[in-house]
Amino acid sequence: MDALARSLAATGLPHPLLVEAARRAVTAAPPGSTAAMAEAEAERWRRTLLQPVINATGVLLHTNLGRAPLAHHQPATATNLELDLSTGERGSRHAHAATLMARACGAEAGLVVNNGAAAVLLVLAALARHRGVVVSRGELVEIGGGFRVPEVMAESGARLVEVGTTNRTRRADYERAVGDPAADVALVMKVHQSNFRIEGFTEGVAVDGLRGLGPPVVADLGSGLVDGACPWLAGGPPPWLRGEPAARQTLAAGADLVIFSGDKLLGGPQAGIVVGRADLVDTCARHPLARALRSGGLVLASLQDVALAYLDRRAGGLPFWRMAAAPLDGLRQRAERLAAGAVGWAVRDTAAVPGGGTLPGVEIPSAGLAAPGDHVAALRAHHPPVIARVADGRTVCDLRTVDPDDDPTLAAALAALPTP
Ligand SMILES: *Cc1c(COP(=O)(O)O)cnc(C)c1O
Repeated sequence: MDALARSLAATGLPHPLLVEAARRAVTAAPPGSTAAMAEAEAERWRRTLLQPVINATGVLLHTNLGRAPLAHHQPATATNLELDLSTGERGSRHAHAATLMARACGAEAGLVVNNGAAAVLLVLAALARHRGVVVSRGELVEIGGGFRVPEVMAESGARLVEVGTTNRTRRADYERAVGDPAADVALVMKVHQSNFRIEGFTEGVAVDGLRGLGPPVVADLGSGLVDGACPWLAGGPPPWLRGEPAARQTLAAGADLVIFSGDKLLGGPQAGIVVGRADLVDTCARHPLARALRSGGLVLASLQDVALAYLDRRAGGLPFWRMAAAPLDGLRQRAERLAAGAVGWAVRDTAAVPGGGTLPGVEIPSAGLAAPGDHVAALRAHHPPVIARVADGRTVCDLRTVDPDDDPTLAAALAALPTP
């Protein structure tokens, strides 16, 4: 067993995992194929490790592929995570990334937790436990991965006060709920219909239509677009972003708090960001759940870099915005270069999508390569794995989501396939 395990050392896996692979092979392999099965078992282990893959799906924020791509390098040193360097006293981990994110959104204060779902849970628990939260029936959404607004509300201890109907909700519906003493309304919440659209006979109340109701207005934007004017993009907002709510404009329209994810349209690490009125943010930060849901120093350092990029108008250089804004001509040229070296693959115009449960139905003009047949599994077996998709009987590699630096790797993966 030990000898068999040692024969697999080239995989780079730790010895105990190789012993496990060897043991499986010895007990399960038919005679004569023990070594081959042990190798396959070791390879199976290796493929479970978290590792870089090439996203050729054309889905920019692919939840299975870690949403927004981002690099972060950090030396192994102590940091001032919770130390105020001016006073020498205990500081707050919200003083760095969260405060900078608030500034980037034009807000007084900010708070960062593990993800968007955690941020919603914390805000509800801290500001509305045992009290009512008014939400339009058209916004009682399921985001995916088990995030359902009514269930998160129940977990937080807040009581859902539904108003309006699935397709139509008016200001008067909110006024009636807020004016009902029995409802004991602590918050009015807007939830962005991130992943679906209701069309036809519809009516809703935008954030500016909720001013003056009384209770604070909280907007769960989900997607994390910082500013609808996209001042970090030379050409301004791309047409496919039209209609997407942004943190800065939602605050300006009167929201008291805005909640969004770090790894969607922000292009940052997984995080849940709450920005807005300082007194409300402070109440959230002091709630015991804030301790349980907080982010670690690695994430906060990475998010600080992202916040600084937005404040400096350098956010167009973030990997997410680079791929989102890449001109179509450049993608076509890359596709032509790759097709020239890949027998059976042809240049093809494609439609990339934002993904991550944002902007449903929105397509971003893109380009890539296509070949007849289904080569998805073979591309996934490449080192590093290439994740492609099949459409109309053809395998498609969309270049909008592939970093240009990865083109040679993609070329090698295509060249390694049997000629399509
Ligand atoms: C994505 C999303 C969430 C959940 O955010 P995560 O960071 O994925 O936890 C919550 N609300 C809305 C509206 C969303 O779009």
